[in-house]
Amino acid sequence: MLTKKALVRELRKNLQEDYAIELEDATSEEIFFSLGSTIKGISNEQWQKTWKNYLKEQQKQVYYFSIEFLPGKLLKSNLLNLGLYDLVKETLADLAIDLEEIVEQEKDMALGNGGLGRLASCFMDAIASKGLPGNGNGIRYDYGLFKQQFVDGYQVELPDDWLKKGNVWEIRRDSKAVNVHYGGDISFTKKTNGHLAVVAENQRILRAVPYDTGMVGYQNGIVNTMRLWGIEIPYAEEGKYRSIEERRVFEDLTAVLYPDDSNERGRFIRLAQEYFFVSAGIQSILRYYQRLDLPASVLSEKIAIHINDTHPALCIPEFMRILLDEWELSWEQAWDLTGKVMSYTNHTILAEALEKWPVKLMKQVVPRMYQIIEEIDRRYVLSMATIHPEALVQRTRIIQGQTIHMAHLAIIGSHSTNGVAKLHSDLLKSVVLHDFYLIYPDRFNNKTNGIAQRRWLQLANEPLSQVLDETIGQTWRKNPNDLRLLLNYQNDTTVLEKIGQAKASKKIQLATYIEETTGILINSDAIFDVQIKRLHAYKRQLLNLLHILKQYFELKDQPNKKIHPRVYIFGAKAAPSYHYAKSIIKTINAVAELINNDATINDQIKIVFLPNYNVSLAEKIIPAADVSEQISLASKEASGTSNMKLMLNGAITLATLDGANIEIRDAVGDDNIVIFGLSEAQVYAYYENQSYSAREIYENNPTIQRVLNALIDGEIPNIEQEGREIYDSLLVYNDEYFLLRDFDSYCAAQNKIERMYQEKEQWQRQCLINIANAGTFSADHTVQQYADDIWHIEPLFAHQSK
Ligand SMILES: *Cc1c(COP(=O)(O)O)cnc(C)c1O
Repeated sequence: MLTKKALVRELRKNLQEDYAIELEDATSEEIFFSLGSTIKGISNEQWQKTWKNYLKEQQKQVYYFSIEFLPGKLLKSNLLNLGLYDLVKETLADLAIDLEEIVEQEKDMALGNGGLGRLASCFMDAIASKGLPGNGNGIRYDYGLFKQQFVDGYQVELPDDWLKKGNVWEIRRDSKAVNVHYGGDISFTKKTNGHLAVVAENQRILRAVPYDTGMVGYQNGIVNTMRLWGIEIPYAEEGKYRSIEERRVFEDLTAVLYPDDSNERGRFIRLAQEYFFVSAGIQSILRYYQRLDLPASVLSEKIAIHINDTHPALCIPEFMRILLDEWELSWEQAWDLTGKVMSYTNHTILAEALEKWPVKLMKQVVPRMYQIIEEIDRRYVLSMATIHPEALVQRTRIIQGQTIHMAHLAIIGSHSTNGVAKLHSDLLKSVVLHDFYLIYPDRFNNKTNGIAQRRWLQLANEPLSQVLDETIGQTWRKNPNDLRLLLNYQNDTTVLEKIGQAKASKKIQLATYIEETTGILINSDAIFDVQIKRLHAYKRQLLNLLHILKQYFELKDQPNKKIHPRVYIFGAKAAPSYHYAKSIIKTINAVAELINNDATINDQIKIVFLPNYNVSLAEKIIPAADVSEQISLASKEASGTSNMKLMLNGAITLATLDGANIEIRDAVGDDNIVIFGLSEAQVYAYYENQSYSAREIYENNPTIQRVLNALIDGEIPNIEQEGREIYDSLLVYNDEYFLLRDFDSYCAAQNKIERMYQEKEQWQRQCLINIANAGTFSADHTVQQYADDIWHIEPLFAHQSK
């Protein structure tokens, strides 16, 4: 057990060895790296032990394949999970060092765009914390998601050189490197044993080197592995690269994360990236399996592979390739095992985000993959022809014309397809993947997303955590369902008051941060109204802005009007190629400039668009939020997870009936959430009868006219082009996401928030009820359902205690 004395000794030793410096002279950054390596040393012991036990017990493992992971900073969560948080904080305090300042030195690990990557990281935390044998498999990008700055209100993207000073948490494992093969000419001969031999010539061989990071479980001695692959050109292959450019193309495979979570671009590199981490991961899994010395027939009793969205769907043909070409199994046996091992999560129903690849490109980049996909497709059509109508089979096949449908491959080649919230899973069955539901009804299931509540409450919100400890004891820290105990205190005014004070202190802290980073002075008694998420038309940040404009014009038109002061807080990155989203960023910033500097409204509205939204910024904003904006058009947001983080921190959700908002409403009840807007059924009805007319709504609604006209009449300065673009998107292109249709009900909902906030005690009670019911959305809980229903994995020694 680490003592204060030993910790100081370790720190001094590391600083001496790594920097030749005394603790007293060390910078915060040097202390961060020294502390990090001390902590890593401690978790490494548990890591080694965990792994030995898994091996000894031949524990069934799940491998979570995800092209994105978004862990954020790891120091605090590692400290908490190792049970060292208080000791380290106090030890540093004794040395007059503030832990928070040390924590700030860590670079956010941002190898993901948003929800998808953050979910993967919340799951890594939860899998370890549940003591489940699970591993992450992904890409070690040299550059994470771009850093966002605003220049004249425009988004500017800067590279995120997160590895520049090294990454304390990772371990490079050269001994576990594997080769990944691209391109080439494939031919077939017969081996002496009669088995088909695949001969590949003129291939490019790249070396995949794993960098492992320990995923520390919450105070349970379990440390799992997140394995991220980096690319290198093997020495023996150097000669093959005739030009620097050609070399670059391959070296650059793991250079950048695609900063786009809905459209696929840079097609060649993206596909090569996908194959890279898939092939490296599958090879290393099957290599591990061979160490167990078991027959191939029991593979699915030891290995589960999860495909997080379609980006890793090549897992299916790659797994087949090794079983066929290297293990020499029959197609039937290989296919049976593949289906049992693989499972798939669908994350979106947006048509533009359903991944497809041209046959030509697949053939060029990974010809053997193409052959196997073609054979899977051929056999699929053949086997279904006798059971299902021809048209249905044609619609669901993998290769259609010159296009490969990755979701079709993922569904056909796995035993489970899940959506990420009830509504989303239902829509998959009834609309988006209905054809597949007819064919494989048993494969479809729902796993509502969850969040790492330790990070989002215990670590991010100490004041609230303390109130919880004082009120309901500490068991909620391990068992989030115990947050329900708080319901016993909903009429205890002292508790309500304390929850209010915890919120107030976080609001003051955020106000200070806002002033320091943006120069904007805000009133911390204002309602903090928060919308933080990627910028996307379907998420409708614009609807939020239209309401702000309406409110602003009312204050201008009625100088005596008083509202409860409001601070609208935005955080959002737009994909660099997503022109419309960037126009919305510019417009929000322009409106902020106008409103924040208009003395006539007496500071009753402020708009703060914080640049560079990422996990660490989320951790600052969320505890200070009063209102959680979850206003996507119903049916478009698969689940959402910021909605869960915000309710957990006592924000009131202002939402459409979309994604997990519906389950949040079910958990807290109608009185403790504010719902507005079209239902998913109404949205689909509009699609059905094509009767939506934005122009008609505009013509009949003077408020909408006033607000939209402001976009184009110069009232908001400096948005000549952007204002016109947005105006046209609503009126000329008929408002794809029905903002105008939902506008009135959104404004009514905002008015309701205003009224609710006036009833201070009742508001605090509503906050309490939200916190108390947030335990349902713990990733621990979600992951347990995956483990039970899909992966069939258990914690170490579980069978012995039964
Ligand atoms: C939680 C989180 C998201 C997902 O937010 P949604 O509102 O669910 O889209 C995106 N980015 C970061 C940094 C997050 O922490």
